[in-house]
Amino acid sequence: MNRYVSHLECSLEGTRYEAGPVYRLSDAGRPLLVRYRLDDIAAAVDRDEVAARDGGFYKWRELLPFADAGGVPRLGEIDTPLITLNSAPNVIVKDEGRLPTGSFKARGLALAVAMARELGLDRLCMPSNGNAGAALAAYASRAGMQSLVYCPADTPRMNIDETRLCGAEVVEVDGFIDDCGKLLAERAKQEGWFDVSTLKEPYRLEGKKSMGLELAAQWGWTLPDAIFYPTGGGTGLIGMWKAFAEMKVLGWIEGPLPKMIAVQAEGCAPMVRAFEAGEEFAQRWEHASTKAAGIRVPQAVGDFLILRAVRESGGKAIAVGEDEIERSWISLAREEGVLMCPEGAATHAAWRRMIEAGEIDRDEKVVLFNCATGLKYKLPGP
Ligand SMILES: *Cc1c(COP(=O)(O)O)cnc(C)c1O
Repeated sequence: MNRYVSHLECSLEGTRYEAGPVYRLSDAGRPLLVRYRLDDIAAAVDRDEVAARDGGFYKWRELLPFADAGGVPRLGEIDTPLITLNSAPNVIVKDEGRLPTGSFKARGLALAVAMARELGLDRLCMPSNGNAGAALAAYASRAGMQSLVYCPADTPRMNIDETRLCGAEVVEVDGFIDDCGKLLAERAKQEGWFDVSTLKEPYRLEGKKSMGLELAAQWGWTLPDAIFYPTGGGTGLIGMWKAFAEMKVLGWIEGPLPKMIAVQAEGCAPMVRAFEAGEEFAQRWEHASTKAAGIRVPQAVGDFLILRAVRESGGKAIAVGEDEIERSWISLAREEGVLMCPEGAATHAAWRRMIEAGEIDRDEKVVLFNCATGLKYKLPGP
């Protein structure tokens, strides 16, 4: 473990857990958060020196949980670019499709695999809608570990083939990702696989947190007015919010924090429903349906953390329709050469809707997260 880690903490109850042992959820069944001795980090390192290092997300090692940067699995991690739209000069796409395995799932799974290896685990499993499974397979194989992935049978074919080719055993299930999770949990228990499901172990979140650190450095140690994030399990949104809080304490960033906009699809919008109803937790969304597979998540263990971050930031949760996703997907590709994934296109559709509703101004600087390369998907026709 990184010597700057002070302890882990239950995200609901605040109970402390000593750093070191293998953990999944807290005793209360909620995600565990890694806490650092931020004063010591602030005294030891300079933000610009850290930002100038090579190694993509691994460069933030003082704020990441692993002990030994030499021992982490590497596949050519980079900082992902910011692309300003011609049609809207204050709208900037952060293109996460450039990462190894073609999605930002690399950030989380690289950390989960690195930590699992450090903790002496060697068989990792998870349910996945596609990109997470592929990232797990690649990083596990890179680290010489075994992987097992349960996918809904209608996961994009490319993801399933990619996950298998990268060394995982893949089981296709007639159901949603949470159904996959339940089936997998039984087998994992019998056969001794360690489950690295979203937020059910503490370290994927730390990898996803690096999006917030990286964005702040790219933005000159301030932040945009709003961040539009396609929200499934919500790890990225929760992770960025954690990163901003840590950087505030470190004295690394100035100015107001961005409004966090959780973007979902109308066919699967549990966070939007809970946000609008003022609920702390979200009910499962039945009969979920959207072409944006990465955000087809009917139920999320971090629901209250997503809702908390959105509310604290003064943001909102918003759902967009399939036709709006397609319209943004096509127009950004055709008019600007920016090929999004459908989840990324959903963030553009949400921005457009909020502009039309007067909920956001054209002079507000916003970042849209394009979370995966568009090339993994069945693209819309001409
Ligand atoms: C996983 C995924 C998401 C959702 O990310 P979370 O952090 O789990 O909410 C969005 N888009 C794509 C392409 C994904 O693979």
